[in-house]
Parts: sequence; structure tokens; C-alpha cells
Amino acid sequence: MDSGALVSCNFELEHYRELLEAAKAGDYRFARFGEEPRPGDLFLRHDVDLSLDAAVRMAELEAELGVTTTYLLMTESVFYNLASKEGTEAIERLRELGHAVGLHAVYPHVELDERFDPVVSWHNPRPEYMSEEIGGAVNAYGTRYFSPERYRSDSNQHWRAGCPHEELRAGAFPWLQILVHPEIWVYPGETMGETMRAMVEADSARRLEQLAADGIDLG
Ligand SMILES: [Zn+2]
Ligand SMILES: [Zn+2]
Repeated sequence: MDSGALVSCNFELEHYRELLEAAKAGDYRFARFGEEPRPGDLFLRHDVDLSLDAAVRMAELEAELGVTTTYLLMTESVFYNLASKEGTEAIERLRELGHAVGLHAVYPHVELDERFDPVVSWHNPRPEYMSEEIGGAVNAYGTRYFSPERYRSDSNQHWRAGCPHEELRAGAFPWLQILVHPEIWVYPGETMGETMRAMVEADSARRLEQLAADGIDLG
């Protein structure tokens, strides 16, 4: 495919792959938080709000394309337990694939233990503290990495400033930070509501397996 015009901007993994390929075609470099932004840098970050499964699937797709990004995981999520077997295995897998792993924190709690690189993004941040410096860690929303014209986010299955794939392919951004939520792309759905319902359905099957594995009689 030689033109971005043929690509439709949905929230499916297939289009996520196209987005990564566009960034590579535009000669972007997958940079790590902590490095001073340079021309051509792409800071691609994933705030993992809901599903470690989705994070690992996205991480595997990226690795297939030789791309490494930054996964920010929660220790205070109601949706997953980072201290569980599933949680420790997810971190191991992300590390094995070469990705950075930071903390997706709930303000003001920042406890960076040995599981995390010193990089933090706030969950549902409020403007008054969002860009404040964080002692001992890089704030992904800090002024060094975050300005509205160099930032794109897929929040709620909507690119407020448009899907960046064409501009990436054209090398139009001097550098850019992108926030991509894995759940939105891994589970199917035309709207955020549909996608979330698909995720909950997949999760209920997984819950039944976990119950059986825990010795619960489901008969
Ligand atoms: Zn697109
Ligand atoms: Zn969040």
C-alpha cells in the first residue's frame, strides 16, 4: 500500500499495525521517557487501565514489528491485580519483549518498587497537578514530553486531533507522544461501549476458568 488514503482509521489491531508501519515509514524512532526529545522521536506509551491480557497482546504485535514502547501499569486497579500470578507474568512478558514498564499512578501515590522503571503517568489526571514534577521519576505529562500540539491520545475510542497515521508516514511531527490504550484495539467494537462490552464478555469466560483452576465446583 503506498497511500494512507486507502487506510480506514478504525480501532482494530490491524490498523494499529498500520499506524506503527506508518511511523517506521516516516523514519520515527521509538524513544524512551527519560531521554531528551530529539527530532524524529516518537514516545509511544500505553496506560493499562483495564486489561493485562490486552497489554500483552499489543506488546507482542509491537515486538513482531521490532518496536518497543512504554507500558504503564497500575497497582491500584479494580480491574487487575499486578501482584497476582497473571500480573507478574505480564510484567515478565513485557520485559522479555524489550518494552519499558512504568507506573500508571493514582494521584498522589507514587511507589516505584523494583518492578518499575522510573516513569509515571497519572490515571485520570486533573490539570492542576498533571504536569508537576515527580521526585525520582519522569512524568509522562511533564512539560518536557507533553504539549497539546505534540500529543495524540485515543481516549474513549476517539482521536481528538485525528488519527496520526498519515502525518506519521509523512514525518510531519518534529516529535510526538502518543497514548494508546491496548483494550480499545484488542477488543472489537465500533464504539467504546461495544468494545467495553466485548471486553467484559471475554473477561467473564476468563473468570470461570480462574474459578475452575481455584478448585471451585461449577457444576
Ligand atoms: Zn489512521
Ligand atoms: Zn488511566
